[in-house]
Amino acid sequence: MDPLLLIPGPSPVVPRILEALAKPTLSHTSAGLATDVRETLDFLKACVFTASGEPFVFAGAGTLAMEVALLNVARKNDRILILSQGYFGDRMAAIAEAFGLGFDVIRSSWGSAVRDEELRKAVDSIRYDVVAVTHVDTGTGAAAPLRAYAEVLKGRDLMWIVDGVCATGGVEERMDDWGIDVILTAAQKCFGAPPGLAIDIFSPRAMAKRRSLPSVPAYYSDILRWLPVMHDPQKYFSTHAVNEIRAFAEAARIMAAEGIAARFLRQNRLARAIRTGLAALGFGLFTESEFLAPTLSVIRYPEGIDDASFRANYLTAGYAVAGGLGETAGRVFRMGHMGNLTDGQALGAVEALGETARAMGCKADVPAAVEAAAAVFHE
Ligand code: PMP
Repeated sequence: MDPLLLIPGPSPVVPRILEALAKPTLSHTSAGLATDVRETLDFLKACVFTASGEPFVFAGAGTLAMEVALLNVARKNDRILILSQGYFGDRMAAIAEAFGLGFDVIRSSWGSAVRDEELRKAVDSIRYDVVAVTHVDTGTGAAAPLRAYAEVLKGRDLMWIVDGVCATGGVEERMDDWGIDVILTAAQKCFGAPPGLAIDIFSPRAMAKRRSLPSVPAYYSDILRWLPVMHDPQKYFSTHAVNEIRAFAEAARIMAAEGIAARFLRQNRLARAIRTGLAALGFGLFTESEFLAPTLSVIRYPEGIDDASFRANYLTAGYAVAGGLGETAGRVFRMGHMGNLTDGQALGAVEALGETARAMGCKADVPAAVEAAAAVFHE
């Protein structure tokens, strides 16, 4: 039996989506695939509440989507500000560095996020051209206060990039209302689709900035090469990840049927239920409560539980979780709870976690913890 994938992405892919993935490979310029591409693009716009944004989807992963976002709105001598609450903000800085772009970074401590007042101070004192932020950092479980950032950045002449890889589709991101210029994400987390697609959505302002650049230091990642294909998916630039797109379109249908607002609520409920169960079992959270993201939990061990042994035992029980990154390695484990995870699967995970901890010497009342978690679903 394969384990239930509770790492913070990829999230479990339900049979209906796997069946779509296993459908015959169509021509990348066929009318059949074009229908799925169009449906995917329309869905992405709805997902981030934009009427006029330009969505792009192509073979790749989140890191490619980050590169695409930055390279298409940053001019060579632009001043770039990166807000980093951990691992993936630092990656955005590494990408800027790889392309020789100058940048400043404001880092929060791990488990926290940069506060809007700090952002205000920075953009008041220096005229930045680009501000890049991570919505949810998958290393730390911290969500940035995007709405507060939106208030700070409103009306300023700069490009605002949001990395939504661990958020888009599971946490609210209102592109038009909040004035976000680029949202980048990937298929494998909140959408519950298999990995393999990079996604970027550009505002009209961001498109205009790209058009104002004489060139970008990229070929595949140049959105102007992709734009004709997104407008007419029977055109060719580079071969689509045909089967991944068929699978993603099915994932989009599942999400559209559930309703995006209902999905955000369910996401919150899953997080609360799992955390209630964990607390009852004696596990704490690493992330500061003010910044807790609903899509994953970064969990501290009770005294005496060894990280590697715990995760190996939990895997034997049928659940895959991830270890800590960077400074948290060995001290925490990370559990994703996004996409199409069901209430029943979440309760099963809490129960197995309790049994695993008990077998390792923890005094946990497993039935009481499961009951406490289940009560959240019955509220
Ligand atoms: N940004 C964030 C917030 C992420 O969580 C991840 C992946 N965990 C990435 C970027 C990079 O995505 P990928 O691994 O698909 O390249």
